[in-house]
Amino acid sequence: MKNYHEPQVPKLTDSELLYIFPQFKQIAPALMKELRQRKTELLQAIISCNANINAESSDETYRYFWKLWLIQPLRDEVKTVEQKLARLRRQLRIIKGTPIPKGALNNDLILAAKAVPIESIFNQRLRKTGNMLTGLCPFSEERTASFFVYKNTNRCWCFGCQQGGNTIDTYMKLNDCNFNYAVLALTGGEK
Ligand SMILES: [Zn+2]
Repeated sequence: MKNYHEPQVPKLTDSELLYIFPQFKQIAPALMKELRQRKTELLQAIISCNANINAESSDETYRYFWKLWLIQPLRDEVKTVEQKLARLRRQLRIIKGTPIPKGALNNDLILAAKAVPIESIFNQRLRKTGNMLTGLCPFSEERTASFFVYKNTNRCWCFGCQQGGNTIDTYMKLNDCNFNYAVLALTGGEK
């Protein structure tokens, strides 16, 4: 694998991050509120933008162009905010040490956990190359990037240590937890 000579960045899991920055506990609720507000603002902006464009013209091409131009960036930001919220919910769950209820998992919850964008569970910097992300392996120490995230299948694989898998497998390895814990942590514990 090619060595990108990237500076060494700390590879932290959710639990390690919270251990190193205990003050996060204090700021987390405010951060959560801020992100929720931003999401509401964005959704309102999308609705009014949509209404304005529709009122402007009945021409489908005109509408398509302006919606693509004005609304798509807002939708992209909603997605980013949602990813941040999902991660915050996981971290808050770890802070609270919420016990995992037995037999609480249903298939929908497992599918929702698998659907969490896998890149959102890593802390290290990942470089975008086409439809993949590459970077240093989160499972073992390495200086050459041999870790790949495949966005189309939402899976990852390290060609160095031959480890990887879907979002749940990877979360379990990174946070040293069991399947139930990983599913609930990834979905914010909601049933
Ligand atoms: Zn590896």
